[in-house]
Amino acid sequence: MTSPLPIAIHPPRRVLMGPGPSDIEPSVLGALAAPTVGHLDPYFLKIMDELQAMLRQVFRTENRLTLAVSGTGSAGMEACVANLIEPGDKMVVCVNGVFGGRMADVAARCGAQVVKLERPFGEVFSSAEIEAAMEQHKPKVLGIVNAETSTGAHQPMAEIAGIVHAHGGLVLMDCVTSLAGMPVEIDDWGIDAAYSGTQKCLSCPPGLAPVTFSDRAVAAIDARKTKVQSWYLDMQMVKEYWGGNRAYHHTAPINMNYALHEALRCVLEEGLEHRWARHRKNHLALRAGLEALGLDYAVAEEHRLPMLNAVLIPEGVDDAAVRKQLLTEFGIEIGGGLGPMKGKVWRIGLMGAACTASNVLLCLAALERCLMAQGGKVTPGAGVAAANGAYAGKS
Ligand SMILES: *Cc1c(COP(=O)(O)O)cnc(C)c1O
Repeated sequence: MTSPLPIAIHPPRRVLMGPGPSDIEPSVLGALAAPTVGHLDPYFLKIMDELQAMLRQVFRTENRLTLAVSGTGSAGMEACVANLIEPGDKMVVCVNGVFGGRMADVAARCGAQVVKLERPFGEVFSSAEIEAAMEQHKPKVLGIVNAETSTGAHQPMAEIAGIVHAHGGLVLMDCVTSLAGMPVEIDDWGIDAAYSGTQKCLSCPPGLAPVTFSDRAVAAIDARKTKVQSWYLDMQMVKEYWGGNRAYHHTAPINMNYALHEALRCVLEEGLEHRWARHRKNHLALRAGLEALGLDYAVAEEHRLPMLNAVLIPEGVDDAAVRKQLLTEFGIEIGGGLGPMKGKVWRIGLMGAACTASNVLLCLAALERCLMAQGGKVTPGAGVAAANGAYAGKS
């Protein structure tokens, strides 16, 4: 028996409208294919310096310790938690979705005494709740998710750091999905540590995790009595390569860093504010269309994320069949529900390069076909018409 030859890489073209990865600009894919140089090559060191400067601009921070961790968003999460937490430290983790839950798991594995502050999926935390938790538990770190991709809920952040700092704590924020798609203001909000990922609104392949640490966070890391639990993610060593004496720690994923450099260059060329406005405009058009198709959002209006639209699957509609039809007939990927929302919601992403009027209109037209195939009552053309109305300012 001879086994068949492996296939050559020739992926289908998709329209990535799920919870990430998102569509990628050709110039970013091109950067991946550029010649690999050594990790201490003067050319690469220059790319790293520029990448750090661009990350500071996108995070809106002056933080010196700002770099791209080698690994996906979850590695950024582990890097932040592992460096800030020593065994026995108390950490309050706000859990209103899958990613808050993941952060609590990571913290427990780092030896934290974890206190979970919980809200139902789709809801967000009030300043009063945070204040009460800080008062009661006095944790070293409070962890919170800015954009909960599992539910589509947006956590307002402006008041949180003031409250946490008043109780002597540090704020760790997950901005994997929000960064470059809606306002993220590390310095203005007083965030001490934050991590993101490349494959959401930065529109780069998955593989790196931008992170940033405030001086306060760096002081906490410097004051550790124990070694960071993870050798690979130990910022004391990683920062020597990124900022210090360029000491070898691990071999940087050279071409991924090229790609992130190009993706950040695209973000800044567009302008952060313009990019946020584009996400908002396309979200409003998609929303008008989805509602015209009879689909309701899973999150209250004031807390909806522009880049992740979670809508309830109508009664009697087959979740998997619709997503399969979207993929096979139209090449469109949308996300299903996660955790307790599995089978109950669709998560339609409008992230980075995928956040376009053409994708909004395509998705609505395709979804209309799929809903009709399911025997749904849909007014033909209603979704596309409503979205076009929103674009024309008649929403
Ligand atoms: C995607 C995501 C992560 C995890 O990132 P990976 O790149 O999948 O490791 C963490 N938090 C949030 C909010 C996310 O959306």
